[in-house]
Amino acid sequence: MSKTTTRRIAALPGDGIGPEVMRAALEILTAIGERFDLSFEVREGLIGGAAYELHQEHFPEETQTLIANCDAILFGSVGGPIEESTAEKWRDCEKNSLLGLRQRCCFHANFRPARVYQALQERCPLKKSIIGEGIDLLIVRELLGDLYFGTHETKEEAGVRVARDEARYTEEEIRRIAHTAFRAAQQRKKQLTSVDKANVLDTSKLWRAVMEEVGTVYPDVSLAHMLVDNCAMQLVQNPGQFDTIVTSNMFGDILSDTAAVLPGSLGLTPSASFNEKGFGMYEPSGGSAPDIAGQGVANPTAQILCVALLLRYSFGLDEEAKTIETAVEGVLDDGFRTADIACTGEVAISTAAFAAEVRKRILRTS
Ligand code: NAD
Repeated sequence: MSKTTTRRIAALPGDGIGPEVMRAALEILTAIGERFDLSFEVREGLIGGAAYELHQEHFPEETQTLIANCDAILFGSVGGPIEESTAEKWRDCEKNSLLGLRQRCCFHANFRPARVYQALQERCPLKKSIIGEGIDLLIVRELLGDLYFGTHETKEEAGVRVARDEARYTEEEIRRIAHTAFRAAQQRKKQLTSVDKANVLDTSKLWRAVMEEVGTVYPDVSLAHMLVDNCAMQLVQNPGQFDTIVTSNMFGDILSDTAAVLPGSLGLTPSASFNEKGFGMYEPSGGSAPDIAGQGVANPTAQILCVALLLRYSFGLDEEAKTIETAVEGVLDDGFRTADIACTGEVAISTAAFAAEVRKRILRTS
């Protein structure tokens, strides 16, 4: 994409804190446009409960058309308060909108970075001695295979209930995620850890073999293998050893949630999903946080960092992405905190004030 190309982004704020943090993130996108003289066309669409109010659907056709005509999706969050989950507006909301989107776009890869900022070490549940020089890792999870998509069955055999779930991977599915992970590792420290259970599972044996084969195409990336039980331990005992981790759908589901708690708040961690064509959707790891929605106190960091990932992975704008990441780090280093990351005695600032601090550093007006 050339410098003058207009990049089309579908912004889907959704529910709860989604609109508040999306507003903050779009301000940051505008600041990047100003600083680097780039043009972005942002078109907003309805999704989740917000869409249901108008269309009686969580993922209306209008939004489907919008995403079919954009270069990337910036997603907020969907869903209502847990205690209202049976109400018509919220029933199956996440399934219909988020899973609908994932299926429609055929996302096969999910990126979940986890970074412990120097300034927020006290928020990390791990001891300082374990955090060491810092934690900055990326988990790449396969999304379309494994236990989730095999056959599921519960039946009765000789009067006893028996349940069975099939785990399945083709070599093409593994090869596809392997290439995605190796390329991601190339953009980081070039260290890839492939996580499996090859001492027991056939899917894992195939996984390991294909990872080795694909590894020959990326001689600049060092590949190591680790069993999933060991990886779960290492993530809390010595997470600093990891750079990029690639793993299957089931293991990735569990390990990425373990890693997600390391930064100290759900409001800090972005995530991204990609399909084979490289089309991406970017969303915070957390949900719609109905408990704090509408108060202007949500942490916009995850949504702002989604913009950084979007620029890097969808548009190849690495310098621009780093500018956002450095600005966020600067704001934290200077002691600004939203309520979720403020320690006792620290004054919390609003979502908008936090975004304004990030914006100032991007435009160098502070
Ligand atoms: P949640 O992630 O919304 O909130 C969990 C806790 O984290 C809450 O205390 C919340 O205030 C806090 N939190 C989350 N993001 C924050 C932020 N940016 N700043 C400050 N604090 C933040 O999880 P939940 O309460 O279990 O779910 C609420 C709703 O969100 C449900 O309807 C659920 O289905 C939905 N959900 C949506 C997504 C998604 O859209 N991707 C993901 C998870 C949950």
